[in-house]
Amino acid sequence: MIAELKGVGKEYKTGDQTIVALQPTSLQLNEGELLLIIGPSGSGKTTLLSLLGCVIYPSYGDLWVDGQLVNKLNQNELAKLRLNTIGFVFQNFNLLAPLTAEENVLMPLQLQGVRASEARERTEKALKTVGMTDRRQNLPKQLSGGQQQRIAIARALVTNPKLVLCDEPTASLDKDSLGIVMQELRTLADEGKAVAVVTHDPRLKQYAHRIVEVESGAVKEFKEFND
Ligand code: ADP
Ligand code: MG
Repeated sequence: MIAELKGVGKEYKTGDQTIVALQPTSLQLNEGELLLIIGPSGSGKTTLLSLLGCVIYPSYGDLWVDGQLVNKLNQNELAKLRLNTIGFVFQNFNLLAPLTAEENVLMPLQLQGVRASEARERTEKALKTVGMTDRRQNLPKQLSGGQQQRIAIARALVTNPKLVLCDEPTASLDKDSLGIVMQELRTLADEGKAVAVVTHDPRLKQYAHRIVEVESGAVKEFKEFND
C-alpha cells in the first residue's frame, strides 16, 4: 500500500461559512493499480487527489503516504515527499511559462540534484513516452492544451515516482490522444506504480482497475464494475 486515508476529512472556512469539501473518508491506494476517481464538478475530487498528493493537509483524520504520517510533517518534509515519491498532473497543467517544454520536464530532476547528463537522458525518455520529442523546444504558449497536458505528464513521470496522480488528465485531449494517455497510465499501473486519475468522463472507466465515486464530498466504491 502506498497511501491510506483513515477518517480523513477536509473543510474550508470562509468567514462564518464552513464548506465540507471531503467528508470523513477511509481509502487505500495500492501499487499496481489504476484507481479512477469519478464524480460531478464540485464533488470533492480535486480535494481528495490533493490530499493524496500531499498538496494540502487534512482537517482531521490520519493520512499516510509512503509510510509517513502526513498530518505530522512540516512544509519542508511535505515538499520532499512530493518531490521524491509523487508525480502530480494538475488540472491546469501548471507549466512554467518562460521555460520550454524540455526545461519544464527537466525541472524536478534539477530540484532532486540529478547530474546533468543523466537528467538530460531521462528528460528525453519522458518526452518520447508522451510523443512530444519534436516539440521540446517550444514554450507552453506555443502548444495546444492537449500537448501541454502531455508535457505535464512527462514532468510527472520523469522522477520515476511511486505514486502518479492526475487531475482530469484527458479534459483537453481529443479521442486519439485520450486513448494514448490513458493506455500509458494503465501500463504504468500494470508495471507496479500506484496511479490515481480524477475524471467526470465515464469513458475512462475501461482503463481502471478500481473505481470510486465522489458525490457531495462522500466517497464510495463503485459497485457495478467487473474487471
Ligand atoms: P471537484 O474537483 O470535484 O470539482 P473540488 O475538490 O475542487 O471538487 O471542490 C469541492 C468543494 O470544495 C467545492 O464546493 C469547492 O468550491 C470547495 N473548495 C475547494 N477548494 C477550496 C478552497 N481552497 N477554499 C474554499 N472552498 C474550496
Ligand atoms: Mg477538480
